[in-house]
Amino acid sequence: MYFEIDPKVREDKGLSLLREETHRFAEEVIRPAARELDRMSDPEQVIAKDSPYWDVLKQMKKLGYHRIFIDPDYGGLGVNATEAHIILEELGWGSVGLTTAIGVDQIAPAVASLFAMGDVIEKIVKPWVEDTEAKYHGCWGVTEPECGSDYIMACEESFLPHVKELHPGEVRADEDGDGWVINGPKSSWISSAPTATHVGLHVTLPPHDSLANGAFCIVPLDQEGVTKGKPVDKLGLRDDPQGDITFDNVHIPDDYMLIRPPFYEFRIGQIICTTSCFMGTVFTGLARAAFEEALEYSKNRVQEGKPLCEHQLVKQKLYKMFEKVESSRCYTRKIMEHVWEKTYIERTFDASSRHALSAQIYGKRSAFEVAYEALQIFGGYGLTKDFLIEKLFRDARAGLIEDGTTEVLGLAAAYNIVQEC
Ligand SMILES: Cc1cc2nc3c(=O)[nH]c(=O)nc-3n(C[C@H](O)[C@H](O)[C@H](O)COP(=O)(O)OP(=O)(O)OC[C@H]3O[C@@H](n4cnc5c(N)ncnc54)[C@H](O)[C@@H]3O)c2cc1C
Repeated sequence: MYFEIDPKVREDKGLSLLREETHRFAEEVIRPAARELDRMSDPEQVIAKDSPYWDVLKQMKKLGYHRIFIDPDYGGLGVNATEAHIILEELGWGSVGLTTAIGVDQIAPAVASLFAMGDVIEKIVKPWVEDTEAKYHGCWGVTEPECGSDYIMACEESFLPHVKELHPGEVRADEDGDGWVINGPKSSWISSAPTATHVGLHVTLPPHDSLANGAFCIVPLDQEGVTKGKPVDKLGLRDDPQGDITFDNVHIPDDYMLIRPPFYEFRIGQIICTTSCFMGTVFTGLARAAFEEALEYSKNRVQEGKPLCEHQLVKQKLYKMFEKVESSRCYTRKIMEHVWEKTYIERTFDASSRHALSAQIYGKRSAFEVAYEALQIFGGYGLTKDFLIEKLFRDARAGLIEDGTTEVLGLAAAYNIVQEC
């Protein structure tokens, strides 16, 4: 059913093979496990030792999907932007939830590989890239109980002149002998917090009066003073557990403080560019999955004497869904290429954040619109657990909030447009 419009990709045997192999893994391993995890009534079952969650994580690490964003000089997978896009769309097709788990896994080691000083490469990055047993698992702690969208806004450099209007942040790092001591709570929404061994953590530095005094560090979570809450019981993305983490006098060595002022704004904005391309792409995969489900169903379900797809109204819906999937792929891939060039090739770290944010918004919105129409084509059956579309719809709905609401991401992009254009 998939037709690749770009001849450079279509005629490249290596890329076709990459897509076929990743698709097979998504179809045979990720999707069945994600459906099983989604059906578990208690989120504690998802994170239990014998849960399929761990098996998928291990298999993803064996295939190197935890190294996509790590600098190739330090053991990264060494893929280019097109290859990364192909892998992520296919994994997202299998499940956005489990793909997010392998995405947040690599944020801290990827940042360390790009910006680290001192021993962090030896202590963190090297064991991480070599891990094929999911001994290490990372999460990304940005949002806080009192500081959700505010933290997302603070990551956009163009917004910073207004940063005093925001909450000043709750998780703080203070100098402590040869390192730092961390205190405060992150929100209940940290993806993979219940299963993670490490967190890539956003903190504020003294005088703690604004998020502009922000920094980013890596914190091992097996230390005294770290407490984690229960995994959240939620509507969608149930195969990807979220939970809170609280820090009570937790010490880290100085070189674990990876990004500090005055580079905080600039470098954090660039991390958000990469994560935005990630999100836009995996949700393109979800959009395609929903479209395929609806097309197949519409060919088999007969009403008024003919298959649904032969009714003009349904045909029109299918066309609009197709258009959204294709435009989402083209747009997110193009922007991924731009961000990749600025991050991994030129290393100037000056990607256009308005474009990157729009890739995330476009991919997520397309996924929700396609899943919404797809479920409508299923009629009443679409509301039942018997059909995948019910899960895809819930996952797409959660995506409009995950990693920043589409409204607030758009607001952040708007500050950049007004300032830069
Ligand atoms: C599935 C999932 C996974 C997540 N994973 C992570 C993770 O891994 N790490 C992490 O740190 N966080 C994570 N989050 C948290 C996520 O980033 C926040 O939920 C999101 O940024 C919104 O913050 P909030 O929930 O506090 O809502 P609020 O900030 O309280 O917003 C509530 C409403 O007000 C609107 N609003 C807020 N500010 C403005 C404004 N200035 N102007 C106009 N409207 C505004 C919002 O659009 C929203 O509709 C996750 C969330 C979900 C649902």
